Amino acid sequence: MTNKVLVEANQLKMYFPIKSGIIKRTVGHVKAVDDVSLKVYEGESLGIVGESGSGKSTLGRMLLRLLEPTSGEVFFDGDNLSALPKRQVRPYRRDMQMVFQDPYASLNPRMSIGDLLEEPMLVHQTVRDRGERRRKAEELLEIVGLPMQSYNKYPHEFSGGQRQRVGIARALSTNPRFIIGDEPVSALDVSIQSQVLNLMKDLQKQFHLTYVFIAHDLSVVKHISDRVAVMYLGRVVEIARKKDMYHKPLHPYSEALIGAVPSTDVTKKRKRVVLEGELPSPASPPKGCAFRTRCPHAHARCKEERPEMVEVNPEHFAACHLYTNEDGSLKRGVGVV
Ligand code: SF4
Repeated sequence: MTNKVLVEANQLKMYFPIKSGIIKRTVGHVKAVDDVSLKVYEGESLGIVGESGSGKSTLGRMLLRLLEPTSGEVFFDGDNLSALPKRQVRPYRRDMQMVFQDPYASLNPRMSIGDLLEEPMLVHQTVRDRGERRRKAEELLEIVGLPMQSYNKYPHEFSGGQRQRVGIARALSTNPRFIIGDEPVSALDVSIQSQVLNLMKDLQKQFHLTYVFIAHDLSVVKHISDRVAVMYLGRVVEIARKKDMYHKPLHPYSEALIGAVPSTDVTKKRKRVVLEGELPSPASPPKGCAFRTRCPHAHARCKEERPEMVEVNPEHFAACHLYTNEDGSLKRGVGVV
């Protein structure tokens, strides 16, 4: 990981309109992502975690401009992609790829593995020569640990784990710098998950990749991330280096998520915080702090004022009134590690 910012989200919002009646009038909005700003440093792996409905996949798609944000900006290597017409974003697409959650749905069943791997090279015109494309596809198969004969086979002839290896090879086929893994192992058997995660870790080193790794499972993110961001109802509520997040979470929601991860160290007992209630609807999030309906520390201020993200400890940010005074300054004693 370097100090160079490769990808930056600036106040990203994605509001989906709720339509009603015969004339489909807009009666409200689902705030899937609500004012998210974050930086991804070159060479790092940033884990993004949250329950389903927290907005993490929508955020991932906006970072790749697969979804147009309602407002906000995305920068890639210093260039403002949001200011560019779609046509001009195309050259950036080869640098930014995605590995999808469902290796069954994301691969066209009528295309051979060879065609699936060569298609992005054709679309982005990264390899124009046919023979060269085939050589590269075979090389990719080897890199992801699949036999060369896979080239002429079809997706249905492979297991889930093997299909996800094809998905990873396809993402690598344009020599990207940045890959988003959108729950890339959650559809796989637990026994296969660590093999795919280890492969992704090795590839990151080998090809100097930068990752955003989206998951609902903190134990998966722990395996692969350098930093972790926790999302709740469309907002990032905490972001920190992995060790700080797992050993000293600041936000009550992160604390609850981490408390639910089984510890492999029997000498360390984790404080369990039981989350009460369901995730509220993003169409009508609670006023003030969106987590207040489930938070064991909720108090009067939480009902009135939405907490802003503050740097509580070095490189450890949280959005929670437990750490700030009403004027926004850090509380006495907070900020000492
Ligand atoms: Fe809990 Fe209040 Fe902090 Fe929200 S701001 S997490 S309700 S203590």
